[in-house]
Amino acid sequence: MSNLQEPSFRESVDLMFNRAVALMDLPPGLEEKIRVCNATYTVRFGVRLRGEMHTFTGYRSVHSEHMEPVKGGIRYAINVHQDEVEALAALMTYKCALVEAPFGGSKGGLCIDPRKYEEHELERITRRFAYELAKRDLIHPSQNVPAPDMGTGEREMAWIADQYARMNTTDINARACVTGKPLNAGGIAGRVEATGRGVQYALREFFRHPEDIAKAGLEGKLKGKRIIVQGLGNVGYHAAKFLSEEDGALITGIIERDGSLYRAEGLDVEAVHNWIAKHGGISGYPDAKLSEDGAELLEHECDILIPAALEGVINLTNANRVQAPLIIEAANGPVTAGADEILREKGTVIIPDMYANAGGVTVSYFEWVKNLSHIRFGRMQRRQEEARHQLVVDELEAISESMGNKWSLSDNFKQKYLRGADELELVRSGLDDTMRIAYQSMREVWHDRDDVTDLRTAAYLVSITKVAASYRAKGL
Ligand code: NAD
Repeated sequence: MSNLQEPSFRESVDLMFNRAVALMDLPPGLEEKIRVCNATYTVRFGVRLRGEMHTFTGYRSVHSEHMEPVKGGIRYAINVHQDEVEALAALMTYKCALVEAPFGGSKGGLCIDPRKYEEHELERITRRFAYELAKRDLIHPSQNVPAPDMGTGEREMAWIADQYARMNTTDINARACVTGKPLNAGGIAGRVEATGRGVQYALREFFRHPEDIAKAGLEGKLKGKRIIVQGLGNVGYHAAKFLSEEDGALITGIIERDGSLYRAEGLDVEAVHNWIAKHGGISGYPDAKLSEDGAELLEHECDILIPAALEGVINLTNANRVQAPLIIEAANGPVTAGADEILREKGTVIIPDMYANAGGVTVSYFEWVKNLSHIRFGRMQRRQEEARHQLVVDELEAISESMGNKWSLSDNFKQKYLRGADELELVRSGLDDTMRIAYQSMREVWHDRDDVTDLRTAAYLVSITKVAASYRAKGL
């Protein structure tokens, strides 16, 4: 089948939304209100670079303001367009509702290939884009809070935060205008790894439910499962690293822009990552089978497929040949609506994007709260917690001594038990809790309702119900 029959990314999101609302009893007006994107701002601005004026096009789309601020990343990619940004903004609305982050949905994009610019050029472009958005409150701690996405990271977020602060010199909450900042510019421990970490926690939660594992035709634990990852960027790298290093999964395949690597015994994720950083791609990486047609590996046999690069990669042209029984959508929209239908019919279990990659926005939420409260998490409690634990250890050791030292606490136990949680541990704990609870809310609908046969529809049902409740509470 040709790719031309494929709906656009936004149409795909709408189709999936419609599938879910057909099972709900929403007033038609409200259904439409939730579905549509409230506003999209397009800006064209010039920046003088290399002796001439360059014009750039950027977007900031606000999907739903049932809660404010609205939240969503800013993407730097050459093919960014309005339709894509609107689809991503809609997904943000549903994602935030699903993981109970108190935000509406938004998304931004700039048409640019960041690899073609020097750092100082990117800084000028980013600052100018931020200026245009901040001028219209499309960057604002209480109105609209961006974050990193494809092609952007901590560096860009620090420039945006600084630009906003320069324009709002007396705003004490200026740092809360954007998340994903570096630690020394108001960021939070664990934000860079958050989306990949969330993918790991999502899979761990999935593998805690034997019924769900069986639905995917799999058995056993995460340990030893063969995983293929597409995109070794922020999300894909962290997910692959944690799953292989901490859960004993095998990363058998990695797909990147310039091809793919395959090794049945498992690839060394750190080594591949270092190779890409040094050589700009996977080409030439030793110790693995290299293929120039990367996308082919999406169809290879494995237990879990993690598309973590871009949208629409599993579509009408290849869905039939995708063998993975379990797909976890680390990227936004990697499976088109048409492919989703084919895969559902085949019995493939898909852990949907709005849940699978919600780790990023969850930790962004923690960062925003940290910025507004102006204090690092754990600063007040940590030593007090340690002192209370020390009391217990001292008491147990005194009892042991009074009994003739017949038993003792191991040094390993004491070391772990006595240490109070620092910010990173608290962030991971909050993220883990969020991913578990959100998964359970989806699976309850998946298992309890006969008319819901997949996790994506279940996820939409949970989140649309929450968004609708919030509109109703406002009297709409
Ligand atoms: P990134 O720019 O850090 O990484 C993307 C990776 O994909 C890069 O390594 C790139 O080389 C690779 N890639 C690009 N085109 C490819 C192709 N055709 N085939 C194979 N690989 C290709 O981006 P990211 O932040 O990791 O985001 C990836 C996805 O995750 C996007 O869909 C994004 O919307 C989503 N996401 C990101 C975050 C976040 O916190 N960064 C949060 C939620 C969702």
